[in-house]
Amino acid sequence: MDTGATVIGRLAPSPTGAQHVGNARTYLIAWLSARSQNGRVVLRIEDIDSPRVKAGAVESACEDLRWLGLDWDDGPIVQTERLAYYQAALERLQAQEIVYPCTCTRTDVERSASAPHLEHEGPIYPGTCSIRRAGDVAYITDRPVAWRMRVGNETIAYDDGFRGPVLLNLHEIGGDFVVWKSAGTPAYQLAVVVDDDAHKVTEVIRGDDLVTSTPRQIVLYRALGLAPPRFIHVPLVVGADGRRLAKRHGDTRLQMLREAGVAVESLLGLLGWSCGWLDQMKPIGLRDLLPRFQLGSIPRQPFVLTAQLLEKIGYHR
Ligand SMILES: [Zn+2]
Repeated sequence: MDTGATVIGRLAPSPTGAQHVGNARTYLIAWLSARSQNGRVVLRIEDIDSPRVKAGAVESACEDLRWLGLDWDDGPIVQTERLAYYQAALERLQAQEIVYPCTCTRTDVERSASAPHLEHEGPIYPGTCSIRRAGDVAYITDRPVAWRMRVGNETIAYDDGFRGPVLLNLHEIGGDFVVWKSAGTPAYQLAVVVDDDAHKVTEVIRGDDLVTSTPRQIVLYRALGLAPPRFIHVPLVVGADGRRLAKRHGDTRLQMLREAGVAVESLLGLLGWSCGWLDQMKPIGLRDLLPRFQLGSIPRQPFVLTAQLLEKIGYHR
């Protein structure tokens, strides 16, 4: 009998872009981590950010996961069906005056902001609307309103399960951030905090492009009186040019591999080898990978996926 607290991990595909080999590696790590601790897995479809979710996209994301053999205990939970919960969280933030209505357009922010401190982050919000109180929204009738979280110049420290101690300054990563978009939908940061709490997720494993989301989410957990999960950010898969895996690197969608007749064991062998769990690239079943799983053996640098590696598993682009 497991006497410790149950680990609950999650798989959170976004159905806008089809799932590719890079996503598969992150899902595999997240799934193996939860299962190797006898944990549960929640499947959540992050469709809120998508202006255009194609019909059948949710089903095809599930199909990709099933092909990989990654099962789940709860879900799929679909974000667009949970708007009332995000709205309630926004109202709690409004009641605390931690958020304020912002009417700046993207161009306004870019024009008046100082250059970002971090290369991959957007401009730092200059605080134009921060003198407003939540109730001022009643007087704004001529422009769409977004809601921004007040954050000041605080540095957030957290212990990343892969990267170790991380320190990030909220101002340097963009300052006051949007929790509710002017389009009338919750921003990613708010939705995932509400969801991970609602589904009692204890470990969040995701790509390290989301490291700078974590301090923002920690601030939201705090404001909502919730306990944050353990955050684990793993390196991404990149193309031979060192850039994040994308269309320009050829079609690495799982659906294409499947249709080309690539055996899932071959893909798992490639991914397992890339994570340091196998000495060499050879086909392996998911159940056989489970006892080999170790977070610590995953290389710190991004995994470079080349055409040659894909050819070795029988995929010729
Ligand atoms: Zn503003």
